Amino acid sequence: MDKQSERKYIFVVGGVISGVGKGIAASSIGKILQSRGFRVTAIKIDPYVNVDAGTMNPTEHGEVFVLDDGDECDQDMGNYERFLDTTLSRINYMTSGRVYETVIRKERNLEYGGKCVEVIPHIPLEVISRIEKASERAKSDFTVIEIGGTVGEYQNVLFLEAARMMKTKYPKDVLFVMVSYLPIPSTIGEMKTKPTQHAVRNLNSAGIQPDIIIARSNAPLDKKRKEKLALFCSLLPGHIISAPDVESIYDVPINFERDKMGDIILETLGMKRKNGDDLREWKRLFSSVNKFKGEVNIAVVGKYFDTGDFVLSDAYISVIEAVKYSAYHLKKQPVLSWLNSKDFEANPGKMKSLAKYDGIIVPGGFGESGIEGKLKVIKYARENKIPYFGLCYGMQLAVVEYARNVLGLKDANTAEINPDSENLVIDIMPEQKEKLKKKDYGGSMRLGAYPARLKEGSIANKAYGKKEISERHRHRYEVNPEYIEKIEKAGLIFSGRSPNGKLMEIAELPKRKHPFFLGTQFHPEFLARPFRPHPLFTEFLRVAIRRHKK
Ligand code: GLN
Repeated sequence: MDKQSERKYIFVVGGVISGVGKGIAASSIGKILQSRGFRVTAIKIDPYVNVDAGTMNPTEHGEVFVLDDGDECDQDMGNYERFLDTTLSRINYMTSGRVYETVIRKERNLEYGGKCVEVIPHIPLEVISRIEKASERAKSDFTVIEIGGTVGEYQNVLFLEAARMMKTKYPKDVLFVMVSYLPIPSTIGEMKTKPTQHAVRNLNSAGIQPDIIIARSNAPLDKKRKEKLALFCSLLPGHIISAPDVESIYDVPINFERDKMGDIILETLGMKRKNGDDLREWKRLFSSVNKFKGEVNIAVVGKYFDTGDFVLSDAYISVIEAVKYSAYHLKKQPVLSWLNSKDFEANPGKMKSLAKYDGIIVPGGFGESGIEGKLKVIKYARENKIPYFGLCYGMQLAVVEYARNVLGLKDANTAEINPDSENLVIDIMPEQKEKLKKKDYGGSMRLGAYPARLKEGSIANKAYGKKEISERHRHRYEVNPEYIEKIEKAGLIFSGRSPNGKLMEIAELPKRKHPFFLGTQFHPEFLARPFRPHPLFTEFLRVAIRRHKK
């Protein structure tokens, strides 16, 4: 038997509507199999033409997640990494744009040997080759592949075709899961299965029969509807998994297992179970979190919530999860408040409302809007000794604020906002300038994991418990080297630097000046994991909890 055919592939597709938690379903399936002792990797396929998620506004598409190798991808990749505690790479993520780009490049390089290159089969074949590569690279027993969008749209037809071809290639090794939505119209008051039946028919017309249906709804699925769906969609009743809304995404794998998801998958694919902990650790962590007494109140001051709360939490999902893991580690309930930085711009009276928070986070961001509000919030946090944690833009703005109000450089700024300022304490990197001139925006920032060295005895050094770190980046601008000495003399210390000493990675105020005032040029939130909370988030929350007690 060749190696590739020992691997198993689980495709997760969506029925009826999007946004019902396909990503969490895929992550949970992966988690269940991993907790049974198998090696698991995950792939996200997004149907859009963008080559990656980096050029999309967070209000359009939610958070842009960044991998170690610098790929800017969908937030589901973050869910996979967090659920599976794994490190994925760009081969685990594809879009229509990315697949077409490769096929066209190969054609230009004569790699198709003079053949007519066609949408079918060459696009699906490229998809399959990527899936195989990702599985091979991870040496996975199971590869979970989530196809974005919903069955029946034009956009993902070629990906479904790839899935169908894969089943033909490996008949015993491919399994299909459909995550579908069952509405309960308030006027009728009962759960309706019809849309799901249509979705399955639709999938059938793409040559695919689902092996498992995950029935998403407000309420659990009853026996009668299970049987009805089984009969009309040609599945065993036991293969229809009830998936009612839950409070925490971390309950999803536990719920799936109640309906025997793991057993069903192994049985269908003819696999023997292995020794694993069967979600024991997972349950131990996540079933205790509701019992934690005491809260820690954190304000996140951002701007990507012009379209309402829904989008807001989507745009900062890794920050939210990072806060949760560290708070759970400290046995506290995190309460996050979302403050729009624009509200602080013209309303000086509002500043005082910040005093009630135990800590303030200014997360990453781009562009001009809401910036003066953020600067005011940072100043308030610094002067009133409220724990402050700046992530990327939040670090750059902390430097701007310090330069303006402590160094007295009144027009200090970042080149992103005012390139004509006399004092560009945050400036564009020279190679970035060239890229912007050429309108080379896509995938062209400083992206992915870079090492940094920490200053002995600094807050950062103590939090990490080591001197060398590696963290993920996504930015074009940097602390301007010309100002480093002046800023440090005035008290703000650069406690993390690139190994050659040129790039400033962490800025912090010493403990005697402020309980916690720290910003990172990188995005620590991308490396926070349920069982490995991020040390900087944990340190920030530890100090915030102390403030709460007072
Ligand atoms: N806009 C800033 C830069 O490009 C910060 C980016 C971020 O917060 N991710 O450098």
